[in-house]
Amino acid sequence: MSLLVGPALALTGCADGSSGADAPTASGPIRSAPTSRAAGTTTEPGATMSPEQPLAGRVIVIDPGHQLGNSSFHAEIDAPVEAGGFTKPCNTTGTSTDGGFPEATFAWEVARQLRRLLVADGARVELTRHSNSASAWGPCVDVRGRAGNPGAPGPTADLKISIHADGSYASGAHGFHVIAPTEVAPWTTDIAGPSLRLARVVRDSLVDHGFATSTYTATDGIALRGDLATLNLADIPTVLVELGNMRDAGDAATMTSAAGREDYASALASAVERFSAR
Ligand SMILES: [Zn+2]
Repeated sequence: MSLLVGPALALTGCADGSSGADAPTASGPIRSAPTSRAAGTTTEPGATMSPEQPLAGRVIVIDPGHQLGNSSFHAEIDAPVEAGGFTKPCNTTGTSTDGGFPEATFAWEVARQLRRLLVADGARVELTRHSNSASAWGPCVDVRGRAGNPGAPGPTADLKISIHADGSYASGAHGFHVIAPTEVAPWTTDIAGPSLRLARVVRDSLVDHGFATSTYTATDGIALRGDLATLNLADIPTVLVELGNMRDAGDAATMTSAAGREDYASALASAVERFSAR
């Protein structure tokens, strides 16, 4: 999982989805998002609910997969961490497009756009990493998995979305899939149900925004997995989205364009609104 061909160029896909982690420090607490001036809103929780701020009072964790500098810190990211009854490497490098656009950067850019949209909706947004830097690594997947949990650093969140992209070389493989935790007692017993509901809402929103479900994995755009620390360690509704296949030319064209990333973020923001309205 840690083999690299060069900076941000991994041979493997994002198979473990839980592989992206990053933060200024691997163990640092998550921090509050800055106030969005553009949106003219505040991140303060408990704000007055209004039609313009459907997420007022909500706390959302966004986990941008991987970190740009992971490939330069193999010893650090290979160190085993708790993953839900077993261990996994702290983090992985992620994949990239054939043109070298890194998954870490894609996830970071979509996460930042999604944060802007959610803050405009009145939400308080926490990111699991605060940079996309070639000189930074992590955080580890256990930190990502616990982010937003009751008792974890930072406020308890209403839900968490981990943003990734896949790297499949299968011919014609394209499209997104949403991964929810399968029920692994006692790790995910508490969140398997609500996380699957969140996954369906995210899937439906992505479809509504014109994105195609995966042609090569998952069923109707949804997969259940028990091997991902990001999901297993969560105590809040959590999904991991593989927004497309970076090795597919069509998906890559969308992912490498600012407009495409805005579309992904818009779809995810709509999903958060829908899920939170229930
Ligand atoms: Zn990934």
